[in-house]
Amino acid sequence: MANQAFDLISVGGGSGGLACAQRAAEYGAKTAVIEPHRLGGTCVNVGCVPKKVMWNASSIASAVADAVDYGFAVTARGNDWRVLKAKRDAYIARLNAAYERNLAAKGVEYVRGAARFLDSHTLEAHGRRMTAPHIVIATGGIPTVPALPGAAHGITSDGFFALEQRPQRVAIIGSGYVACELAGMFHELGSDVEVFIRKDHLLTHFDAMLGKSLMREMRTQGMIIHEHVVPAELREAAGFRTLVGTAGREFSGFDCVLWAVGRTANVAGLDLAAAGVALDANSFVATDGFQNTNVAGVYAIGDVTGRAALTPVAIAAGRRLSDRLFDGKRERRLEYSMIPTVIFTHPPIGAVGLSESEARSKYGDAVKVYVADFTPMYHALTTRKTHTDMKLVCVGPEEKIVGCHIIGAGADEMLQGFAVAIRMGATKSDFDDTVAIHPTSAEELVTMR
Ligand SMILES: Cc1cc2nc3c(=O)[nH]c(=O)nc-3n(C[C@H](O)[C@H](O)[C@H](O)COP(=O)(O)OP(=O)(O)OC[C@H]3O[C@@H](n4cnc5c(N)ncnc54)[C@H](O)[C@@H]3O)c2cc1C
Repeated sequence: MANQAFDLISVGGGSGGLACAQRAAEYGAKTAVIEPHRLGGTCVNVGCVPKKVMWNASSIASAVADAVDYGFAVTARGNDWRVLKAKRDAYIARLNAAYERNLAAKGVEYVRGAARFLDSHTLEAHGRRMTAPHIVIATGGIPTVPALPGAAHGITSDGFFALEQRPQRVAIIGSGYVACELAGMFHELGSDVEVFIRKDHLLTHFDAMLGKSLMREMRTQGMIIHEHVVPAELREAAGFRTLVGTAGREFSGFDCVLWAVGRTANVAGLDLAAAGVALDANSFVATDGFQNTNVAGVYAIGDVTGRAALTPVAIAAGRRLSDRLFDGKRERRLEYSMIPTVIFTHPPIGAVGLSESEARSKYGDAVKVYVADFTPMYHALTTRKTHTDMKLVCVGPEEKIVGCHIIGAGADEMLQGFAVAIRMGATKSDFDDTVAIHPTSAEELVTMR
């Protein structure tokens, strides 16, 4: 088998791998992307993009319900899941094709296959052997299925996007953002949703206000949240599933059970041992602040590193790595702090920076918190109500803002601009000195007392 030599090879054609290879190619490097599935990775195929389509659809469901209160003569007669899925799939197929055209336009070679290491600078994929002084592991993550009896009777977020029809009675197991988002989408589109959580709160990795507020909203909307359920087994009979908890509690009658219990690094087929690449304690690829692994010339970016699993993070890490390797910017790297994030629940959530408890453990009594809670004006005319909660976490006598947490209609579009200001070091008085935009929900962030 002849060796084909490149300057850089991205293993994985998802958000990070594509961004890194394309940026390297822009600098004139000879690059390849190896990808066995559809281009675009998790984000485009089974993550952000189809998820946002479903969130848009589910947001329309509540808007139709509100329309009557605004004087429209409309009656919602359900959602046709098959139509929605077919249009969503067609949109994604268009994106897959656009990604392929982009690679060709940038001169990046697209190798269809699963790569494995033969040694630290040699890969094998689709019967080809390729070498490069720079190899980037960008293989992302896969949804975790717990090792429990009958777990295979459940689906994961990947399975959610493959559903040809909407299940009527759904159990979602998990308390993280994927669990909360998918629960909201099923519910708004007409399913009966029950969420099972091990403890008593949602969104453990976020400011406690957000999880508490979301739980209240979900229950108000009619979702059932079962606390303190630790799954032990999943049974299936005649098309219905029964979840059995460790204390013997049984919950039956579900036509769909969805595991949303975290993600695992997708490294199984890579033969990392052949390259000598080390994993961290949680089995993600261990990297330093410059995306270097323990092996010189082998890097890892994106979800496979277990750090801030978000598309723009994978893209930014990949582009910066190529800036460093091929544009002489030796100190260029991604700073993993102040990363804004949005959760597409109903209502949506936006968060950036430290939670109140993180700030208090870091800065103690120097922390001051401002909160606001209200019902958005949109609901002045609607029977259906949602609530908004906001929190600014400030530090020191200058009240530098180190965290901003919002749950409420519009939070998804509100946060990006505030994140810029906060990253630039904005203080509470900078916010106060900014003239409010009225009437909006966002104005509450600059009028807090
Ligand atoms: C349900 C869901 C919703 C999400 N929503 C959002 C959101 O709203 N906003 C957001 O920012 N992020 C979101 N994310 C996270 C986002 O999708 C990921 O952070 C992002 O896709 C990570 O990019 P990546 O390049 O690290 O990996 P991926 O996009 O997962 O790409 C990895 C690629 O590597 C390929 N691969 C695996 N093994 C091999 C091999 N041996 N050889 C070659 N290729 C291989 C895979 O096929 C895959 O295409 C969501 C994720 C999920 C699951």
